[in-house]
Amino acid sequence: MTVSQATDYEGVIGLEIHAELQTATKMFCRCPVVDLTATPPNTAICEICTGYPGVLPVINQRAVEYAIMVGLALNCEIRPYSIFARKNYFYPDLPKGYQISQYEYPLAVNGYLMIDLADGRQKRIGIRRAHLEEDTAKNIHLGDGTSLVDYNRSGIPLLEIVTEPDLRSGEEAEAFGRKLRAILQYLEVNSGDMSKGVLRMEPNISVRPVGANELRTRTEIKNLNSIRNMSRGTAAEIERQITVYESGGSVNQETRGWDEHRQKTVLQRVKESADDYRYFPEPDLPVLEVSEEWVDAIAAKMPELPDAKRSRYLAALQLNEYDAGVLVADRAIAEFFETAVAAGGDPKTVANWITGQIFRLMNKDSLEREEIGSISIQPEQLVALIGLVDRNLINNNTAKQVVDIMYAEGGDPADIVEARGLAQESDEAVLQEAIAQALAANPDEVQRWLDGEEKVSKFLMGQVMRILKGKADAQQVQTLLNEALENRRA
Ligand code: ADP
Ligand code: MG
Ligand code: ZN
Repeated sequence: MTVSQATDYEGVIGLEIHAELQTATKMFCRCPVVDLTATPPNTAICEICTGYPGVLPVINQRAVEYAIMVGLALNCEIRPYSIFARKNYFYPDLPKGYQISQYEYPLAVNGYLMIDLADGRQKRIGIRRAHLEEDTAKNIHLGDGTSLVDYNRSGIPLLEIVTEPDLRSGEEAEAFGRKLRAILQYLEVNSGDMSKGVLRMEPNISVRPVGANELRTRTEIKNLNSIRNMSRGTAAEIERQITVYESGGSVNQETRGWDEHRQKTVLQRVKESADDYRYFPEPDLPVLEVSEEWVDAIAAKMPELPDAKRSRYLAALQLNEYDAGVLVADRAIAEFFETAVAAGGDPKTVANWITGQIFRLMNKDSLEREEIGSISIQPEQLVALIGLVDRNLINNNTAKQVVDIMYAEGGDPADIVEARGLAQESDEAVLQEAIAQALAANPDEVQRWLDGEEKVSKFLMGQVMRILKGKADAQQVQTLLNEALENRRA
């Protein structure tokens, strides 16, 4: 049986991101923002964030500043007036029976983020809006019919960011997720730890024939605990929807989950009708006014962001595109790199050591790039190691051995070289002696070389280096070896 040529489909994806703003206190009260995984439940709560009647919320100015920073980083227009509204629904994690959020008048609108595609090109992804709200409490289902509620999360400042449906694949969604996460980390407003739920990314996904402009019915994937799973879930959901259409079915508007084990999305909840939240302006809060001066003051103290940093690495430090891209992708890596350069390291050499040896060692231990700050090699020590190579005290192979030791046990490279006798032999008499030994032990090879077989010199070189236990400047040995061989011609 032949199957007719299938239509070509493309994915259409818009992301909804919820980022907790890691301020000292909550959005509308003075309770501390705590790490939920490290704090006993219901110990960071008060009358306001647990919805007692008669209390009054107060807007956290720092949370607004953080939100403005993110809005600016996403090239948004910051609105001079925005309005908090009540989003009404009933759920045990929402003690007031409504969530305070921004609806018709969000803080930031009409932005974009340039994402980095695998082929090195950039693509512009529209940002529809970014608005402030408060996080809900956390339900903990015990599985025996009992559920517990932890109100420590209730009222933590939350920034919701909504993109235009401009993403076309799981990889693009991943590129967006990584870039956005890096920006939040650069701005120090969010740790980016999706496994702890402080950052959540929910893709809305539909597919359509390539070339069509329509937006078809979408599904939404919730509860993704990593960017990788967001990307894989998106790709799998695109495939699922294509299969549905190809077999003559239709896609329903529904919420799906990600089954990591089966690498499939699974149905969670069918949306039968649009939710009616009966939004109305929060009567207990004033209109949020943001002056141009305030926005300018915030813009002036923002740190250098990944794209600007990359341009600087290319122009001022002459790094190549690849190295620059990798180094700025994580704030912690960029910091390590810049500390090393400030300590006198040559930018290109430092970049090579980080992306080569240090990443190799970190990968071996499955460390995330952002964990570079916790390894036992300090940037200054890396520079010291590079210095030993530059001054010809050790060669590159020995340096790789030393970096392994520094990573495993810590310590200064010079001390390690000294303690383990790894310093390179530069005494010419010793080198000559090793060469003489090697030539005496391999008369046949020497004869072949004298008969014109040049490549034998590689073998002889290996023999000399073996006698020297690898601890010599290869260049210097090669020169002396060539001289020794030439002398035999006479
Ligand atoms: P809601 O308010 O119901 O969550 P929105 O219209 O605000 O819905 O869209 C939420 C997200 O879904 C946005 O990121 C948007 O780009 C995306 N989106 C909307 N329609 C589609 C569609 N048909 N296919 C894919 N993504 C979509
Ligand atoms: Mg929504
Ligand atoms: Zn509180």
